[in-house]
Amino acid sequence: MTDPTLRPRAKDSAIAVSFEFFPPKTEAMERQLWHAIETLAPVVPAFMSVTYGAGGSTRERTHAVVSRIQNEIGLPAAAHLTCVNATRDEIDAIADAYWQAGIRHIVALRGDPPGGIDGVFVPTPGGYAYANELVEGLLKLHPFEISVAAYPECHPQAKSPEADLDALKRKLDAGATRAITNFFFESAYYARFLERAQKAGITAPIIPGILPLTNFAHAAKMAKSSGTQIPDRVRVQFDGLDDNAAAREAAATRVALNQCHELFALGIRQFHFYTLNRAELVLNICRALGLDADRTYSKQDHSRG
Ligand code: FAD
Repeated sequence: MTDPTLRPRAKDSAIAVSFEFFPPKTEAMERQLWHAIETLAPVVPAFMSVTYGAGGSTRERTHAVVSRIQNEIGLPAAAHLTCVNATRDEIDAIADAYWQAGIRHIVALRGDPPGGIDGVFVPTPGGYAYANELVEGLLKLHPFEISVAAYPECHPQAKSPEADLDALKRKLDAGATRAITNFFFESAYYARFLERAQKAGITAPIIPGILPLTNFAHAAKMAKSSGTQIPDRVRVQFDGLDDNAAAREAAATRVALNQCHELFALGIRQFHFYTLNRAELVLNICRALGLDADRTYSKQDHSRG
């Protein structure tokens, strides 16, 4: 447990959060998504981002959700965009449509092969091979704000942790302004990663990606394929709770909050939440971080960035 004196307090307005959502596939999922977005909007996040499905499968849905967050909800929205299954011209057209719709922030990613992260990524002929090339291409088109991905426990396909850090540096040197990490549960790994990044000359913020463990079995599967360790002290919190949703929710809040407290003690003041389109858990965590204390949300209040 972190020293309680180091914990964030309600008046600590220096904390900023961002929220990630995925585009819905069904009407029920659509309702859940908009409930989540509207519930979390009053926290006034720095931005809300929307993922891009494997192989571009959510192209239209991602565009629709991102545009609505930006133009109807009135908060800065970021569109995820990948290099998968698209030529440079096709990506240019998608990015240009975002620019025309008023979207200024892209989360630029290589993406996973259509078969998942275990497959071999083969660039589309005439497409981008790596995310740093996508960053360069986007910035030739428009002066977007660009975020990229980082991996405190190393990307599973990287030749080595050093090569992976070089890849991150290339993305930032190409013009990305921040990195957002894959989810992790061991703050010490993230701290070590920050140290290595600093030594490698990286000065851009590397925002920790926090995944509240709403569904432990599913998260454990995702963790395995992305090479993320789940420490035993986290795992035991969910033991025997398979049939007790309320206790699982409480455990998920405890674990995520403890992680934020550990990161806060490291000096971290920005957190990116993988919401999985579920609002209440993330809202509870934000409240515990003091984020609902003195903020008022209105459609016009989207100046924080
Ligand atoms: P890159 O930075 O291009 O790196 C990919 C791999 O290639 C790494 O192993 C890297 O070390 C290596 N590499 C990079 N450059 C070179 C080079 N020149 N030579 C040799 N090797 C190199 N996926 C989606 O499909 N949709 C999403 O919306 C999405 N959102 C995400 C959001 C975040 C915050 C994160 C962390 C990940 C997200 N992903 C998403 C997953 C991501 O697409 C995968 O992890 C993908 O496998 C790598 O993408 P990248 O942008 O990190 O790739």
